[in-house]
Amino acid sequence: MSERKVRVRFAPSPTGPLHMGGVRTALYNYLFAKQHNGDFLLRIEDTDQTRLVPGAEEYIINSLKWCGMSPDEGQSVGGDYGPYKQSERKHLYKQYADQLINSGHAYYAFDTAEDLDRVRLMAKKAGTANWQYNNVTREQMKNSLTLPAEETAAKLAAGEPYVIRIKLPRNEEVKFEDMIRGWVSVNTNNMDDKVLFKSDGMPTYHLANIVDDHLMNISHVIRGEEWLPSAPLHILMYRYFGWEGTRPTFAHLPLLLKPDGNGKLSKRDGDRLGFPVFPLQWTDPETGAISSGYKEQGYFAEAFVNMLAFLGWNPGTEQEIFSMNELIESFNIERVNKAGAKYDHDKTKWFNQQYLRAKSNEELTELLMPMLAEQNISSTKEYSSQVIELVKERAYFVADIITEGLYMFEAPTEYDEKTLQKKWNSEAREHVSNLISRFSDLSDFSSSSIEACFSSYLAEKETGFGKVGPGFRLAVTGKGMGPSMFEICAILGKEETISRMQMALEKLPV
Ligand code: GLU
Repeated sequence: MSERKVRVRFAPSPTGPLHMGGVRTALYNYLFAKQHNGDFLLRIEDTDQTRLVPGAEEYIINSLKWCGMSPDEGQSVGGDYGPYKQSERKHLYKQYADQLINSGHAYYAFDTAEDLDRVRLMAKKAGTANWQYNNVTREQMKNSLTLPAEETAAKLAAGEPYVIRIKLPRNEEVKFEDMIRGWVSVNTNNMDDKVLFKSDGMPTYHLANIVDDHLMNISHVIRGEEWLPSAPLHILMYRYFGWEGTRPTFAHLPLLLKPDGNGKLSKRDGDRLGFPVFPLQWTDPETGAISSGYKEQGYFAEAFVNMLAFLGWNPGTEQEIFSMNELIESFNIERVNKAGAKYDHDKTKWFNQQYLRAKSNEELTELLMPMLAEQNISSTKEYSSQVIELVKERAYFVADIITEGLYMFEAPTEYDEKTLQKKWNSEAREHVSNLISRFSDLSDFSSSSIEACFSSYLAEKETGFGKVGPGFRLAVTGKGMGPSMFEICAILGKEETISRMQMALEKLPV
């Protein structure tokens, strides 16, 4: 028998921007598909039209694109199993709900919202907090199991609103093997008769999801832990439809937790916790409120993806930096943890720093030039590349090169207060003034030549670096710390270095 082709789907609901947990679900699906030469599908699950948010679908598509995970098939790319948006497949679902009715695995229910509210309230008064429509309570309700057949038929013929509910058996263990969690077993007495279809013609998530996974020939369902409670219902639905032979294998991913481990990292956490939870910036179409995105905050897509891959998985080796191709090779769904993964923002920054360090100065120059232009800082590519080399080690983001090395582009307008108080005195001024004349005599203004000149000055004055260095740095850069002064001066050039030293002497009397 030939092995079944791996086909996985990412099936978000367009109810807002895609949160990073959703991106991780997409990523694990993508990695799993690619390592098995399979297909990665994008399906938009928009059965709950009341929760649709304009722009969300486009946002999902753009986020996947930014992360380098293009679907092989699905919404925005097409394919043989379309349409890939559930609202456009509406006509497909009714027949499947009918099939379950006909085989006795589903029933019509006519209870109104008020009826349901009333029983819930009564149950609450009687001490049952979470009343459920289930294999016991359904016997007291208004449905095709309790009403005479003629009455059901009459209600349907009269166009009375109804829902179709699954009819779960009493006291049956539903077992399935999850790729991450192992054997999961739930008794149907702890489950409720979920609504599958509504008389407005729309299926619910459960029906549309199962039908589509079946029709799209999905081999593996890889999704968030929040769907684990629905999995036993899905297992039973595959059985009742007679699709057990091609039922997908399930894998439920661990939750993404807040940094302190206290609860799920949610969309609402957004910038409240000091970091983005969205891949791309999002503007709420209703309120205009802006939530920040990793992209706009200066993260490299590769670093973001690498970080996400490690939220719930690790290769079991020391290696932490993985390109997408390396992830495809090394990822192993069975090594995904069961326990929730705590988000660590410092680690995310660290990943970005590693990717920044690995980029060539040319690549970084290309990224830096437009940022400089935006801030009206003029610089040549050649000069920028030298500055990059100088401050790269101190940067987490390309923009840090400007903040860290601003003095390389503009003479200081302010001087570090602490250094000024501690180190700037008449002696320091004297040294700066002496160095000006020494530097003026240098014909070679390379960093080694400046260093030699500086060292012989120290030797001559029988003094140490600590007495001269800080004032010198303050005069040239305005800072108390930074990279090698000799390199800084060599890049700035003789004229600029001396002019800054002179300016400091004028501006900073003691
Ligand atoms: N539409 C569901 C969601 O938004 C998909 C769950 C699943 O993958 O089955 O997460």
